[in-house]
Amino acid sequence: MTTTGSDKFCASCATPLEMRQQDGQPRPVCPACGRIVYFDPKLATATIIERNGLTLMVRRAVLTGYGLWSMPGGYVDRGEVVENAAAREVQEETGLLVKVQHLIGIFSDADNPVVVAAYSAQETGGLLAPGPECLEVGFFPPTDLPPLAFPRDAEIIARWRAIRDSTA
Ligand SMILES: [Zn+2]
Repeated sequence: MTTTGSDKFCASCATPLEMRQQDGQPRPVCPACGRIVYFDPKLATATIIERNGLTLMVRRAVLTGYGLWSMPGGYVDRGEVVENAAAREVQEETGLLVKVQHLIGIFSDADNPVVVAAYSAQETGGLLAPGPECLEVGFFPPTDLPPLAFPRDAEIIARWRAIRDSTA
């Protein structure tokens, strides 16, 4: 767990917080006023864009998984429509404009704060080029993906192929 300002000091009385077992988990608690900090999950998107049976992947130029590949995606801003966040991240990372089509699923793991909303999307325009947080972009066979930053991406692609094949 990373420590930030919000979990170092009490937001009510500025007393340094202490980690205590609370409601079944260790949580920052204020020893002076009893305020408890509950951490929210973080929502991210991942988007599958297919071209001629290949899946669009980006090679990451950011610290988590640097040099490895993932589907285009990123964090949803508070107040942002999730589908719009998915399309925005695709454009920022790959240059492509897309129309978000189907929710593939919501993916979460125990002890992982990041929850991923995975979508499929259709290209509508733009020019394929890596954005500032990417080293490369490219299309890959879904059965022969490059080294993945997040093993979950393979699960998302497999889920999408199963959904698509069952409705074809
Ligand atoms: Zn307090």
